[in-house]
Amino acid sequence: MKPKTKFQKQIVAASKKLPKITDAQIKWAYKNCIEHIGQKTAKGVITCLECNHSWTDKENKAEHCNCPNCKTKLKIEETRKRSFLDYEYLCIITTCEGFQVLRFVYVECKMKKGEEPRYFNMEVVQRWIAPNGKYATMAKLRPMGFFRQDWLWWSDLEIRPERSLYNITPTEIYPRQKLIPEVKRSGYNKQFYDLTPFDVFSFLLGNNKAETLLKTGQAELFRYFAYNTRKDISDYWASIRICMRNGYKIQNISEWCDYIDLLRFFGKDLHNAKYVCPKNLKKEHDRYVKKKREHSEQQRREEKRKKALESENLFHEMKSKFFGIEFTDGFIHIRVLESVDEIVQEGDFMKHCLFTNDYHLKPDSLILSAYTDDKKLETIELSLSKLKVLQCQGVCNQNTEYHNQILKLVNKNMPLIQKRLAA
Ligand SMILES: [Zn+2]
Repeated sequence: MKPKTKFQKQIVAASKKLPKITDAQIKWAYKNCIEHIGQKTAKGVITCLECNHSWTDKENKAEHCNCPNCKTKLKIEETRKRSFLDYEYLCIITTCEGFQVLRFVYVECKMKKGEEPRYFNMEVVQRWIAPNGKYATMAKLRPMGFFRQDWLWWSDLEIRPERSLYNITPTEIYPRQKLIPEVKRSGYNKQFYDLTPFDVFSFLLGNNKAETLLKTGQAELFRYFAYNTRKDISDYWASIRICMRNGYKIQNISEWCDYIDLLRFFGKDLHNAKYVCPKNLKKEHDRYVKKKREHSEQQRREEKRKKALESENLFHEMKSKFFGIEFTDGFIHIRVLESVDEIVQEGDFMKHCLFTNDYHLKPDSLILSAYTDDKKLETIELSLSKLKVLQCQGVCNQNTEYHNQILKLVNKNMPLIQKRLAA
C-alpha cells in the first residue's frame, strides 16, 4: 500500500534508514527462540536434531537436556516421528529517526533425523510508534483466510492497514534494546506484564497516565488499561487517584470499572473514597447492578405506560362499542377490557405479550379477561370477523384448570358480541 498520510510518508522515509537485521541477531534467535529437539526412541537412544549426535540415556526422564556434543538445549520428545517443524517470532526493540520501532522476525527451523537442520528467517512486521503514541505498521502480506503461519515472503514490507494479527506476541525479545528518550523517561522497566510489546509501548507513549501507573507500581491497572484499549483510563482517573491516595488495592479491576460506571450513572461522587474504595467490592458492585436493573425495569414500565396513554384514544375509538360486555356462569366472570391501561396491567400480571404485541389495536381483535371473585384466570383474544377465540391463556401462557369452562362460557355468549358488531 502506498503511504497516504504525511505521517505514513514520514515513516516510509525513516524506514529506509533502518539498519538490516544483523547475523548476530538471527543467530541469537535461532538459538533462543527455536525449540530444538532431542528425539528419543523407545530404547532410550536420544538424537540431537541440531548436530545429529546420538547417545543412550535410559534413566533420565527429564524433559530437557543439553546435547553433550554441541551443547544445544534440547526438548526431549519420545516419539517415532523423524521430522519436526518449529516457527517462532523474535522481537527487536530499536529506534529510528525519533520513532520507537518494534521489529518482528519470523524464524523457522525444519529438523529431520540424519539431516542438517534447515533454518529460515524473514522480517515480517515493523510497528513504528511516535513519541506521542501515534503509530503505523509496515508489514509483509499474509494470505487471507489461511490457517498456516505463512507470510507472502516475496511481498514487500509496506504500510498496511492496521490488523490485529500485527500485534504479535514474540517468543523472545532481543536482549539489547534501544529506546527513545520518551520511553526511557516513562518508567519502562523491560517488563511486559503478559502484554505484547506493542501494547506496552503504544500505551506508554500514547497516554501520560500510563507513566504514572508504572512509576507508582500499579502494574495491574497498567496491564488492564493497556490491554482493554476500548476503555478510556481518563474516565476512571479521578477515582484511581483516590484509590492510590488511600492505599486501596483494587482486587478485580474489570469489576471495579464496571462499578465506577454504575456510580457515575447514579450521580455519585467519584472523588469520594466512601464510594470509590468499597471494603467489599463484589457486594457493592452487585448491589448497584441490581439497582440499575430495577431502574431500567422502572424506565421500561414508564415507557410502556406512556405508549399506552398515547394509544388510549385510538383504542377507545376502535373498541368502545364493546365496552360494558360482561357475563358469568356464577363462578367465572368474563368482561371486555376497556382501556389500554387495563390491558397493560393484565399483560404485566399474566406476564405475556398482550400489550407488547399490540393485540389491542388490531382491528380484528377484542381482548377479554376471565376471573373469579378472588383471582385472574386467563386472558382471551377474540377474532371479531370470525367470532371465535384466537388465544386464551393464563399466567406465562399456561392454561388454567378452568380453561375449557372459560371457552365454553365465551362461546355461549358470542351473540352478545355479535349484537354489538351489528349495532
Ligand atoms: Zn547436538
